[in-house]
Amino acid sequence: MKTDNKQRRSQLVLRSDSSTPCVAASQSRAALLRRVAKSVVSGQIKAFLIKRRPTQKIAVGAVEIGGNAPISVQTMTKTPTGNIKATVNQIRELEQIGCDIIRVAIPDMESARALRKIRRAIHIPLIADIHFDHRLALAAIAGGVDGLRINPGNIGSVAKIKQIIRAASERNLPIRIGVNAGSLEKDILARHGSPTASALVESALRHVRLLEDLGQRAIKISVKASDVLCTIAAYRLLSKATKYPLHLGVTEAGTLLCGTIRSSVALGILLAEGIGDTIRVSLADTPANEVRAGREILRSLGLQPGGLRVIVCPTCGRAQMNVIKLARAVEEELEKLEKKNNQIKIWPLVAVMGCVVNGPGEAREADIALVCGKNKVFLYIAGEKAAALDAKSVLAVVAEKALEFHSRKTK
Ligand code: SF4
Repeated sequence: MKTDNKQRRSQLVLRSDSSTPCVAASQSRAALLRRVAKSVVSGQIKAFLIKRRPTQKIAVGAVEIGGNAPISVQTMTKTPTGNIKATVNQIRELEQIGCDIIRVAIPDMESARALRKIRRAIHIPLIADIHFDHRLALAAIAGGVDGLRINPGNIGSVAKIKQIIRAASERNLPIRIGVNAGSLEKDILARHGSPTASALVESALRHVRLLEDLGQRAIKISVKASDVLCTIAAYRLLSKATKYPLHLGVTEAGTLLCGTIRSSVALGILLAEGIGDTIRVSLADTPANEVRAGREILRSLGLQPGGLRVIVCPTCGRAQMNVIKLARAVEEELEKLEKKNNQIKIWPLVAVMGCVVNGPGEAREADIALVCGKNKVFLYIAGEKAAALDAKSVLAVVAEKALEFHSRKTK
């Protein structure tokens, strides 16, 4: 058995980008795993872990999607779009927490007319989500949006779609073909019997051909189902059939916990296979939480290196303080700090650990660790004990150390 393990270790040689050395077999398994974890956290070996599938690059306003562009996170506002003030406020809040692209629903002409003012008041690309009425799409384009999401199948005649394409191409606007399991064409549904992955892809490709025939080239595609396995299968098929960039999402994913889990499973699997160029986590919750979930999915896969990450022990009978309360307070404090300093891209990995028995060891890979003692919180910087803090001073100190970390890394 000993020999087997030794042999197995000797086969485990990881190669990463040129800045990361090979990890040789002579190291202990624990040391090896620590190095791998650290490299993943720092984003050094993402290229080894995830090879993104090449897609054609398009631009939505100033944000590129596809090709070698970073995977963007988008969401939708949940205010009535006609309420300009509320919509702009919501978008500005989302800008602060790192939303890359915002989409708004255009159910009526009042919403379409609001777009011009909304566009002027925000800084991220604005996409209009249109169903059924081509006149709303034309009004949205006139209002200065940066892209459209339509389902050509429900727009009606080819002549109406043609009008949209003509207006969009005059401004070089991209169009997302958004196919959902709930809105498939009748003939496709009849042929497949139910909204299967193949049915979703067939519908998407039909719409692609239609848009291509009308001269539209800046296209991205989504094929969303509420079923996780169906969503995964559909995107896998689609990624083999087209080079257009893909917008990933699970539709009607659910409330905060369930919806985040379903989205993380589907998007995580697809992204790990290199599929996906932009993502939206659809939750029955705030758009801010959709953005947070999307960002965390990307960070978990090393696809968005640099952002603030807080890891927390699950707590157990050894915990010497209310770890959950402390961890939430630390997360909130650091999110405020990140918002305030949104030009900073390099942030530390922060650990909150419940006890001095296992905490220091388990938090060794963190840049900053807070380890709870009986009446004190011990601060560790890069694995070394640096101070014993009163509970009251913890938040201010962790914020200060997070900024110091950035200064050190950018010197
Ligand atoms: S760090 Fe301590 S309190 Fe937290 S789970 Fe581990 S043993 Fe329990």
